Amino acid sequence: MKILEPLIFDLSAEGRTAVSLPVCDVPKEAVETLVPPAYLRVQEPELPQVSEIDAVRHFTRLSTFNHGVDSGFYPLGSCTMKYNPKVNEALARLSGFATIHPYQPENLTQGALQLMAELQDDLAEIAGMDAFTLQPAAGAHGEMTGILIIRAYHEHRKDSKRTKVIVPDSAHGTNPATAAMAGFEIVQVPSNERGGVNLEELRKVANDEVAALMLTNPNTLGLFDENITEIAKIIHDVGGLVYYDGANLNAIMGIARPGDMGFDVVHFNLHKTFATPHGGGGPGSGPVGVKEFLAPFLPKPVVKKQADGTFTMDYERPLSIGRVRSFYANFGVLVKAYSYIRSLGGEGLREASENAVLNANFLMQVLKEHYYVPYDRVCMHEFIITPKNLKEYGVHTLDIAKRLLDYGYHPPTIYFPLIVEEAMMIEPTETESVETLTQFAEALIKIAEEARTDVELVKNAPHTTLITRLDETGAARHPNIRWRKA
Ligand SMILES: *Cc1c(COP(=O)(O)O)cnc(C)c1O
Repeated sequence: MKILEPLIFDLSAEGRTAVSLPVCDVPKEAVETLVPPAYLRVQEPELPQVSEIDAVRHFTRLSTFNHGVDSGFYPLGSCTMKYNPKVNEALARLSGFATIHPYQPENLTQGALQLMAELQDDLAEIAGMDAFTLQPAAGAHGEMTGILIIRAYHEHRKDSKRTKVIVPDSAHGTNPATAAMAGFEIVQVPSNERGGVNLEELRKVANDEVAALMLTNPNTLGLFDENITEIAKIIHDVGGLVYYDGANLNAIMGIARPGDMGFDVVHFNLHKTFATPHGGGGPGSGPVGVKEFLAPFLPKPVVKKQADGTFTMDYERPLSIGRVRSFYANFGVLVKAYSYIRSLGGEGLREASENAVLNANFLMQVLKEHYYVPYDRVCMHEFIITPKNLKEYGVHTLDIAKRLLDYGYHPPTIYFPLIVEEAMMIEPTETESVETLTQFAEALIKIAEEARTDVELVKNAPHTTLITRLDETGAARHPNIRWRKA
């Protein structure tokens, strides 16, 4: 930590500043009458007083302490940390898109509306769905929107018995959380030995109290459930609907479509699959697509093309679940997704998915000799390994993840999914070369060797990073994220 401290706070010198503003010409009395007293600042803020160069150096330096996909390989499973082409950023920054305001009248925003309408159509084609809303601001928000649509559908049919939502035990945590927030009871179904849904167990819980099944396919084990049409049929036969968590679409773009698998509702994470960087936590976008019979329940407004070729926001939707966010969407993310889809085209999207799957299988095959692979079958865009074969040396997944930092890699997702003990979930993505994948595999192989010969080296890692092993529980329970002047 010593390296951080002298950087900006100790450089502070009374009266030094990076800006020179004209003297405020609003009289003090005017401020006091206009601003309610509760909002008036009584004390100067405690900020470091530094020059522009001090501030620039401080933040530039801090930025180099972080690992990003632009600085290195980032195989964080389920998060699709792929490289996002800069051309999409450039387009989102065009002033016509970047400076548009949601209160502008429709005759001045036709271009933006057209982009939204065409993106809705593109996503519908990719998903095999009939209609889309672009409103939800993240994956979990999309799930919430989708489940509210399903709830509204059952309520509209006066089918009030449906209080349950089924989720497999391999589900992403947001699925049961969403269903619970929407007031449903969660019913968990176990996976079978191949990592898919156990059909017998599913049949046991499928009845007329089921509102929906929520499923990810490929699931969080990176496996495609080959029984998917049968699964959908089991739920449809009892009057339930089938929800597709399409946060990670990277394995199937242009190859398989949730709509064709039998799903009724789907959400996508544009910030995972469709070219928006998300390592810093946002902004995201989780559009939701539905089959025709659910379209009346979509959030309003929906962008619509009119008979004369112009575009409008359609509010005349009496069965709509209403708005799910302010204004229309995280628009900049939509521009990037549109630019990504249109620059790759159908063929390009398919190729991206094929390479994502190829890269994951290549890496899995190389690592298979050195780590335990719980589901030894062709994987999709990601796969799971564990250090079960190294157990006798006392090494754990957390140690291996930390040691990877010394080799310059962001660790994979660890201890998820929960149904695999000591899981490491690796998602290489299509944007990495065979050389990068090979070097990463070599690092993991070397760590396995270190565990056998010098386990303390691994157990005390990382050694080369600015901050070494943290008390993770302490850091999560009592986070210290704000600077205060001593
Ligand atoms: C990332 C992810 C989500 C949640 O997406 P957010 O945008 O983080 O809310 C949901 N399901 C799966 C399978 C995911 O990988």
